[in-house]
Amino acid sequence: MNEFRADLHCHTHFSDGSCSPLELLTLAKEMGLGGIAITDHDTVAAYPTALSIAKSMELPLLPGVEFSADHRGDPVHILGYAMDFESNEIQSFCDRHQQRRHHRNLVMLKKLDGLGIKITYEELEQVGGDIPRRTIGRPHIAMILLKRRLVSSVREAFVRYLGEGKPAFYSGKKVTVEETIDVIHQGGGKAVIAHPHLITRNRTIREILQMPFDGIEGFYAQMSCDREKKWITLGKEKGWLITGGSDFHGNMKPANSLGSSCVDKSTFDILYDHYLSHEYR
Ligand code: AMP
Ligand code: ZN
Ligand code: FE
Ligand code: FE
Repeated sequence: MNEFRADLHCHTHFSDGSCSPLELLTLAKEMGLGGIAITDHDTVAAYPTALSIAKSMELPLLPGVEFSADHRGDPVHILGYAMDFESNEIQSFCDRHQQRRHHRNLVMLKKLDGLGIKITYEELEQVGGDIPRRTIGRPHIAMILLKRRLVSSVREAFVRYLGEGKPAFYSGKKVTVEETIDVIHQGGGKAVIAHPHLITRNRTIREILQMPFDGIEGFYAQMSCDREKKWITLGKEKGWLITGGSDFHGNMKPANSLGSSCVDKSTFDILYDHYLSHEYR
């Protein structure tokens, strides 16, 4: 029998992934994954539809989300797992993020307009066709730039226009790491530092490691084993859960293949049992 593997970091077309929940879960099942978490940016809209699909496939689906946060000007992504995604705390926090993003996107489109690139909000909402998307962000703007052949790749769109400090970049209203952890806890979930190796400033790492997280993403798509070790050691010292996932985005990020990083059964069960133990179920 194949070893149990669960990918705890995947995006769907409810944010900036290219797959629907059905496509993602079908792929996971075909690959023989034993469990999965959908962690869309700033939304839990893929649930509960995804849960009923997963149930019919007999694939354990752990509720998840990836929140965008800020620590003293540095972006920090925070994974929330096993929370009550229907709770007021989680739903209203996601709504707040959607409002923040709406304003942020408007400002970025205005900046592009100033550079002679005119994109309407309607056009942005229609990227990829008729999709029940909730979270719109820079990858969607990048897709329009690519379609218009103003750039030759999504990467180039970030390098020239959308990356931090580039002419069309705008951070938007910031949400702190502390508040994000608090909201995840209020929703009954576990808060995990996502892809810690992408945080470049040492001070930020040092300071967020002192915060009341429950876990750290020690296994990540293209992170090499020697780099993983550092985060696993740090997380273990704190008694935190060591999570892992591929950051799968379908063809929006083809290098991150589903299942390229995973957790074992004991880690998955800690989170999944926590979810199953909630009274709200
Ligand atoms: P946003 O949530 O709007 O700030 O956009 C963040 C998303 O853009 C994440 O999914 C990242 O993977 C993606 N992203 C950030 N930087 C780059 C880059 N240089 N090239 C391609 N995608 C990127
Ligand atoms: Zn993404
Ligand atoms: Fe992320
Ligand atoms: Fe992600």
